[in-house]
Amino acid sequence: MPISLDYTSYRINMENSTLAIIVPCYNEEEVLPQTNLQLCALLNEMIDKRLVSQESYILYVNDGSRDHTWQLIAQYSEASAHVRGLKLAGNVGHQNALMAGLETAREDADVTVSIDADLQDDIHAIPEMVKKYNDGCDIVYGVRRKRTTDTWFKRTTAQLFYKFMTGMGVKSVYNHADFRLMSQRAVNALCQYEERNLFLRGLVPLLGYKTDSVYYDRLERQAGESKYPLSKMLSFAIDGVTSFSVKPLRLIFYLGALFLLISLGILVYVIAALCQGRGVQGWASLMLSIWFVGGCLLICLSVIAAYIGRIYTEGKHRPRYNIEKYKK
Ligand code: UDP
Ligand code: MG
Repeated sequence: MPISLDYTSYRINMENSTLAIIVPCYNEEEVLPQTNLQLCALLNEMIDKRLVSQESYILYVNDGSRDHTWQLIAQYSEASAHVRGLKLAGNVGHQNALMAGLETAREDADVTVSIDADLQDDIHAIPEMVKKYNDGCDIVYGVRRKRTTDTWFKRTTAQLFYKFMTGMGVKSVYNHADFRLMSQRAVNALCQYEERNLFLRGLVPLLGYKTDSVYYDRLERQAGESKYPLSKMLSFAIDGVTSFSVKPLRLIFYLGALFLLISLGILVYVIAALCQGRGVQGWASLMLSIWFVGGCLLICLSVIAAYIGRIYTEGKHRPRYNIEKYKK
């Protein structure tokens, strides 16, 4: 069912609520003109219908783009009172850029919606989200109904990612990325989580506020390329797991226990062979087990190292981002 744009049923007390639509942008010059056109049209319509206040705005966060993204944002913010631009001093990654936008917007926005720049998420879900906010929700997730427009690779890796996260004990909303509405108090609460290895879709469910979901069909990226290659997705998944679960550390124990059992089995086998007067030969099996156990040990060490590495970065308390310019 298409998302209805009929605002008549919405509570009018939203009139005074200021909405900030936060859009992190990294090298998005190809898609940004379209994005801006559509978002401005939507925001104007929402303001006209008094769904949100006249002061509502779109906040583009330029995450150290190397193309003309910032020039475009500056141009848009000159042209419209409803467009703002936040220029970060360098590329800090999607999650940190989003956090920069949220921390900036919470100063004067009652409610925020974060959305990617590529128009893959249906912007018409935003009024629906605001309606749920009106009904008393502090957090509204945008959830993809189906992903048929994604490539097979993207779809499969994304599904594996959710399964892996769940298996590792991380609670996250299935098929929800970073398209979500958050009230000011939810953002304030989020800002108190000071971790540097940010995994917002795992953090937000921890806030505990009243939550709901809005369903939409995921569209294709309207222009430009994905900024999440496999390597970034993998490190994102590792960040997610290590930030929210110590299950991998516990699994090491089980692996150790399994190896111990196997070694006991081998011991029994050797003793039985000796009792029967047979010697036990086996250069090949010896080498194999040395390399097998050695490999497993290194993997276990690397799992522990992943946690230590994160303690190291968290311990330094470096800022997540630096702001170069804020164009209102
Ligand atoms: N992005 C960002 N910084 C980065 C990488 C990506 O701000 O270092 C933004 C990007 O401009 C987009 C959003 O994060 O608005 C999601 O990226 P993308 O659409 O490429 O990811 P995908 O949808 O392919 O997972
Ligand atoms: Mg995308």
